[in-house]
Amino acid sequence: MKNESLGTVETQYFHLPGDLQLESGKKLSSVVLAYETYGSLNRDRSNAILVCHALSGDAHAAGWHAGDTKPGWWDTMIGPGKALDTDSYFVICSNVLGGCKGSTGPSSINPATGKPYGIDFPVITIGDMVKAQKMLTEHLGIKKIFAAIGGSMGGVQVLQWAVSYPGSVGKAIAIATTSHSSPQQIAFNEVGRIAIISDPKWSEGDYYSRSPPVHGLALARMIGHITYLSDDSMQQKFGRRLQGKSKYDFDLAFDFEVESYLHHQGQSFTKRFDANTYLYITKALDYFDLTRNGSLREGLKDVQAKFLIIGVSSDWLYPPYQSREIVAALSANDKEAIYREIESNYGHDAFLLETGQLNYLITNFLSHVVVADIMKKDIISIREGISIEETARVMCREEITHLPVVSQNGELAGIITSWDISKAVALKYTSPEHIMTRDVITASPDETIESAAKKMQKMNISALPVIDGNRKILGIIGSDEINRLIGGYI
Ligand code: SAM
Repeated sequence: MKNESLGTVETQYFHLPGDLQLESGKKLSSVVLAYETYGSLNRDRSNAILVCHALSGDAHAAGWHAGDTKPGWWDTMIGPGKALDTDSYFVICSNVLGGCKGSTGPSSINPATGKPYGIDFPVITIGDMVKAQKMLTEHLGIKKIFAAIGGSMGGVQVLQWAVSYPGSVGKAIAIATTSHSSPQQIAFNEVGRIAIISDPKWSEGDYYSRSPPVHGLALARMIGHITYLSDDSMQQKFGRRLQGKSKYDFDLAFDFEVESYLHHQGQSFTKRFDANTYLYITKALDYFDLTRNGSLREGLKDVQAKFLIIGVSSDWLYPPYQSREIVAALSANDKEAIYREIESNYGHDAFLLETGQLNYLITNFLSHVVVADIMKKDIISIREGISIEETARVMCREEITHLPVVSQNGELAGIITSWDISKAVALKYTSPEHIMTRDVITASPDETIESAAKKMQKMNISALPVIDGNRKILGIIGSDEINRLIGGYI
C-alpha cells in the first residue's frame, strides 16, 4: 500500500463575510481563518473531512512548507494511502478562531484601533470556533462534511460540530477528549494562565511592541506538558538520569534530564505561540460543556452523526472515563457510537504518537460506509396511476432517470425509468401499468455500499430505492454516488 507525503503545501486565508456574532453577545469584525486543504473535493462535494487541531496546533496539519525541517503536525495520518487518504478525501484544517497562526486572535490588529487587540479581544467559546469553521466549509461549497476528526481540544470541536450542526456532519471521530471540561482540566488551565499573567512582561496583555512574557508562557507550557505525559512514559523517557553530569551539584540549578527537557519544551513553545492566545483558548476550553440541564444525554439528543470515540488507557488529563461517558450518553439516545481504547503508555500525547493504532481504527471507521451515508434523501416519487405523459414530464423537469412509484398508502409499489418511457413511446403503450417494474430491487439504509453495488451490477440497473421495514421510501442510491466514493466500482 502506498504511503506518500503530500509534498509542498500552502496556507490559505478565508475572510469571513460580515461580523461574527459570538456566544458572549459580542461581535468580531474582519475575521480571518487560516486554512489548508489536501486532496480534491469530488463533484458532489461529499468527501470533505475536517481536521480540528488541539491547543497548540495550527492549520498546517500535513505536507511541507517550503524550507521546513518537519512536516505538518498530523502528517502521519494525512496523505495518499494514509488514514485520511487524500486520494479519496478532501481534507481541511483551519487554525482556530483566537489562534496565533494566521487566524484572527488577540495578536491580530483590531480594526477599531489599528493596534493588536491584546485583552480587548472578546472571550470566545468552542462554539464560536466551530461557527467560524462552518462558514469556511460553506465558503468551500460544502453543505455536509463527510467526517470531522480531532484529538484533545480538536475532539471537543468535533463534538461541538455534531451538536451545533447536526445535519452537517456525517461521521465524528473524537480522540482523547471530553464532553465538558472537568474541574481538574480547568484547574490546570488556570495555573497556566496565572503563570502568564504573573509575568511582569505580560503588561495586561499589551506587549506586542515590547518583549513578550516568555517566562510566564514557558512556565504554562511546562505545566501543560507534564499533563500530556504519563508517569510510565516519564519513567521510560528520563528515569532519574542527570543532565550532562554524573553526580548532584547540590545547588538549586537543574540536575535531571526531565528538568532540562521541560525547560527546552517551554522555551521552544514561546518562539511559536502567543501568550494571550494561550489565555483565550484555555478559557474557551473551560467554558466547554455539552450537558444540558445537567444531563449529557439531553445535550446530545439531537446529534445525527455516527461516532467513533477513542480514549487512551494512560491519559490522566482526559481520562478514558470521559470518552466512555460520551458513548454512554449517545447510546442512551439510540445514536450510533463506537468506543475504542488505545493501549498506550504515552498519556494524553498518544493521540499524536500512536499512529499505528489510530490509522487502523480510523481507516476502518471511515471505510465502513453504508447506503444511508450517501443515498439521496430528497426523493421524487409519483403516485400509482399517474399517466405516462405526466410521468415523463416529472422525469424531464427533475432531470432524473429513475422514478419510484408509491401506492395510496405510501408504500413502494414499483419503479419507472427513462428506459421504460422510451419503450412506451416505441411500442405506443398508453398505460403506466405496461411499463412499470413492480418487482423492485431495493436497498436498506444499513446495507454496505459494496452490497448495494453488487445488486446493481448483477441486475444491470443503476439505482435502487432505499426503503425501511414498512416499504416506505427513505431515499435512492445510484451507481454515480457509489462510483464517486469508491472509484469505478460499477
Ligand atoms: N441500466 C439501466 C437502468 O438501471 O436504468 C437500464 C437497464 S434495465 C434493462 C431497465 C429496466 O430495469 C427497466 O424496466 C426498469 O424499470 C428496471 N429497473 C430499474 N431499476 C430497477 C430496480 N431498482 N429494481 C427493479 N427494476 C429496475
